Amino acid sequence: MSDSAALYKPEWLSYPEDPAALNPVIWTPSFARNTEGELCVDGTPVSELVAEFDTPAYVFSEDTFRSRARAYRTAFEQAFAHHNAQVSVYYAGKSFLCTAVARWAREEGLCLDTASGGELAIGIRGGFDPANIALHGNNKSVAELRRAIDAGLGRVVADSVDELRLIERVYAQVASERAQAGRELPAPVPVLLRITPGVHASTHEAIATAHEDQKFGMSLQPDTAALAGLSSQELEYWGVAPSDSYALLAASIAEAIDSIELRGIHCHIGSQIFDAAGFEQAAATALQFMHQLNERFGRQLPELDLGGGYGIGYTEADTPRDIAEVTGSIANTVAAVCAELSMDIPHMSFEPGRSISGPSGITLYTVGTIKNVSIEDEHGDIRVRRYVSVDGGMSDNARPVLYDADYSVTVANRAPAGEQVLSRVVGKHCESGDIVVRYAYLPADLAAGDVLAVPATGAYCYVLGSNYNFLTRPPVVATAEHADPRVIVRRQSEGEMLALMVD
Ligand SMILES: *Cc1c(COP(=O)(O)O)cnc(C)c1O
Repeated sequence: MSDSAALYKPEWLSYPEDPAALNPVIWTPSFARNTEGELCVDGTPVSELVAEFDTPAYVFSEDTFRSRARAYRTAFEQAFAHHNAQVSVYYAGKSFLCTAVARWAREEGLCLDTASGGELAIGIRGGFDPANIALHGNNKSVAELRRAIDAGLGRVVADSVDELRLIERVYAQVASERAQAGRELPAPVPVLLRITPGVHASTHEAIATAHEDQKFGMSLQPDTAALAGLSSQELEYWGVAPSDSYALLAASIAEAIDSIELRGIHCHIGSQIFDAAGFEQAAATALQFMHQLNERFGRQLPELDLGGGYGIGYTEADTPRDIAEVTGSIANTVAAVCAELSMDIPHMSFEPGRSISGPSGITLYTVGTIKNVSIEDEHGDIRVRRYVSVDGGMSDNARPVLYDADYSVTVANRAPAGEQVLSRVVGKHCESGDIVVRYAYLPADLAAGDVLAVPATGAYCYVLGSNYNFLTRPPVVATAEHADPRVIVRRQSEGEMLALMVD
C-alpha cells in the first residue's frame, strides 16, 4: 500500500484493492470494462464516445434508465397489488429531462412530474398525454396554471391557499374564453394538497419536527400565524378554529371551490434518503390527515402521493436500499395504517427522480494539468494532495458546491493499474470551490489526455448546469446495448451563447 493512504481523507474511502473494479453500489450493469480494461457504456468503449462526441460530455444509458423506471413501477405495483390498491409512478422530471427521456419514461408506463412551464413543455413534446402529467411548485405563474388547465393536466399539486384562489381565477378566465368561443368548458382542476408531515428526512435519518421552517407545503400543526389574516366570520364560514392547521383551512377552501376537484394529499419529505422510517412516518401522518378530511367531507379522498427521495450510491459510503424492500415496506405501512383507521387504501402515487436518472448517467472529462500541493494533515504533518484538473467542473456539476456532495471517479480510457494516489479532481472555473471529486484514489501514472468518468451524474447535474465562465453546456449522449450512441441534447455552441447578447 502506498504511504499516500496516510494522507487526510474521509474514513469511508479505502485504498482500492482492485482499482479497475466498478462498485455495483455506484455503477449499474450498463457500465463494464472490456478485456483491455477500458470502460464501456452499454457496450460502447469510452474512447469511441470521446472520439465522436468530445469531452466534457454526459453519457446517459437508455438501458439503465428504462430498467430502473420499469423496476420502480413494477415494484410499487406489485407491493400494492398485495393490498388490492392501485399505483401511479411519476418520474420526477426535475432530476433530468429532455424530450428523449420523457419518451422513455412514457414508454415504460410512468407518468411525469413537472415543476415549471418549461418542464411541462418538454413532457408534452416528449409525447405525454397531459392527463399523465402533474404540475408542482410553490409559486406557479398565471401562465403556467393557464397552460395546465388548458391542456387538461392530470394533477396540480397546490402549495398554498393563495394558489387555490389563483386556480379558481385562472379557471374562470379559461372557462369564459371557451364559452365565448362556443367551446366545451375545461374539467374542474384535479388538485392534490401538498402538506408538510413534520418529518424531515436527511440522507441517513428522519427527524420529526412539529413546525417546519421551509417554503414547501402546508402545515398540519395548529398554526395561529397562518390563520391570522382571517376574520372570525371567515373562520366560522370555513368551519376552522383559530388554532386549526393551515392545511385544514386549505382543504376546506379547496373542497368548496367548484372549479377544483380535490383529489387528495401530497407530501415529499426530502431527497437522497436511505432510511425507511421517514417514508413510513410521513405516510402514517398523511393518511391520518386524509382520514380527518374524509370524515369532514363525508367522502373518501381518492389519492395519496408520497413523493420521491430514494437514495442512490455516489461513493462507497452510500447504502442505497433494494427497490423491492423500499416499496414493500411503504406498502405494508400504508396498508396497516389504513386498516387501523378503517379506510380503503387510496390510489397511491410516487415520484422517484434521482433513483431512476442518477445511476443512468456519467460524465466524461479529459485530464489537463496535474499539480501536487502540500497540505497539513490532522497530525500537523506536511502531506501532498494531487490536484487533477479536468475540462469541465461546477458548470456541469454544481452539486459539490451546492451541497458538499461527494462523488467517485475512475480512469475510463484504460485500466487504472499500479500505485494509486490520493487525488482531488477539480474543474477549470475561476472558483477555488470548483471541485468535482473531493477524495479519490487515481493511478500514480495519470497523465494529461487520460479520460475520467464520474459516475451517478444522471440526476441534478445537467439540469443544474450553468454557463459560468461562458463554458458551453456539454451534450448528453444516449447509449443502449442494441443501438448506436446518439446525441439526445446537443452541445451548446458559442454562437448560441452570443445569440442572446444584444450589442
Ligand atoms: C424533487 C422532488 C421529487 C424527486 O426527488 P428525488 O430525490 O429525485 O427522487 C419528487 N417529488 C417532489 C415534489 C420533488 O420536489
